[in-house]
This record gives sequence, C-alpha cells and structure tokens, in this order.
Amino acid sequence: MKIEHVLILVAMELEAKPFVEHLNLEEIADFFPSHMPFVAFSGEHHATKVTVVTLGKDSVYGTGVDNVGTVTASMATELALAKYGGSVDLVLNAGTCGGFKRKGAEIADVFLTTGVANHDRRIPIPGFDAYGIGKLVTMDPTTMAEKLGYKTGICTSGNSLDKTDKDDEIMKNNDASFKDMEAAAVAWVASMNKVPYLGLKVVTDIVDGEFPTQDEFMANLGAAATSLQSALPKVLTYVCDESSNHDGAKSDL
Ligand code: SAH
Repeated sequence: MKIEHVLILVAMELEAKPFVEHLNLEEIADFFPSHMPFVAFSGEHHATKVTVVTLGKDSVYGTGVDNVGTVTASMATELALAKYGGSVDLVLNAGTCGGFKRKGAEIADVFLTTGVANHDRRIPIPGFDAYGIGKLVTMDPTTMAEKLGYKTGICTSGNSLDKTDKDDEIMKNNDASFKDMEAAAVAWVASMNKVPYLGLKVVTDIVDGEFPTQDEFMANLGAAATSLQSALPKVLTYVCDESSNHDGAKSDL
C-alpha cells in the first residue's frame, strides 16, 4: 500500500525547526484542543502529505522548557491520529538520543529503529515484568538504512535524561543501541492504531562515554537538528517511493 500521509512526532521545537522551515510547513491553527500545548505543522514533500507535531512548551515551568517524555508524546500522537481518522499511513518519531559506544554509536550518527523497549517501568511480578519492559518489534528498516548509510538498532525509552545503575542493567538487557524519552510510547500508540512506526534518531550524547549527558546534549543539539533536517527528507523520499513500488512495503523497508 502506498504511503501518502506521514505523521512526524518530534518532541522539542529546536529539533523540529530546521526541518519545518526546510519543507516550508505551515502551522495548523486549532489542530489540538485549546488546553493542550502541542503544535502541528503541515505541508507536502513530493507527493506525500506531511504533518509534524511538536510537544510544545510547558505552561508552568516557562517558555524555554519543552514538553518531553512518554506522557506528552503518547497523548500528542493519539490526538493527532484520532484527528486524522485513519488517514495516517506511517508514524515517524524523529529526534535526538543518547547512543551507546558499546553498540558502535558516535555523536551525530543517524539511527533507524528496529524495535523499542522501556527501561524505567520496573514491575517485578510475573507477567507484569515483561509488560513493563514492553518490547515492540517495529517495521524493519535494514534495507533503507543500508541504502542511505544509516545505522539501525533498538531504542530504549525512559522518562529521565540521566540514568541509574538499574537503568543501565535494563538498557543492556534491552540490547539497546540508543536511548531516548519518547520512542516506546509513540510506537505503542501507533501499534494500538495499527499504523506502522519508524524511529529516526540522531545521537547528541554518548551514554557510556566520559562526558555528562546534559553538557554533551546541549553542545550537540543544534548540529543534531541540522542532521535531522537532511536525514528526514531522505527517509521520507525512500519510504514513499518504496511503498509505491511494491505491496507490503509498509511493514518492511
Ligand atoms: N536539557 C534539555 C532537556 C531535553 S530532554 C533542554 O532543555 O533542552 C532530552 C530530549 O532529547 C528528549 O526528548 C529525549 O528523547 C532526547 N534525548 C537526547 N539524548 C538523550 C539521552 N541520553 N537520554 C534520554 N533522552 C535523550
């Protein structure tokens, strides 16, 4: 089936801005309920309809603070999918991440997700333990990654930018190549809606490296957003061209 409409969920304004400007996307007024902070932009890339959703700023903690994490990401994804009533063919979660050196990650690498898991949902009761980790295998991007020169791996999500020793243990068990704060939530909402999910994340910091995450993150955020701006159109073009070339492309790219 041809992919004609892609919903791109990007948590932070700074991450989304270069791409939104590059594609000349226009902000859609009144897209979300007025009490919600999320922001939507739409436009086209070649013949594909593109909607970008960012999580907006927090109304309590100041205009400089973006909403991030699983709660806001899942809510924005669901509201956007519901608003479009089934016309979205692919949910693409784009943004920044922390990469694991032990899995070959380097600053500014572009990763496509093969699957997602959680590392901050610890429920040590049989059955609930695996539910907490919540592994999801998402669409296989291996061929696309080889063609575009990107890396692939599992993204592990949690609601903290930093990590505890227990997080470390679980992230290792999750076989994660990179960590973020939204992917597992967005992928879950996509799966509930039976819409394929693809994650595209650029490495801003090395989790198992020598520098504090927050310092590395802030130093590399601008460069990562520029890298997203160039990677996103390439991935969109690939996904949309491939899906029009053969059946079944939506689950295997
Ligand atoms: N100090 C930053 C906070 C951003 S939160 C600021 O105010 O600008 C981090 C965001 O980047 C989240 O959306 C998350 O998905 C992503 N991210 C980047 N590196 C990460 C890491 N090492 N761990 C978790 N999330 C990370």
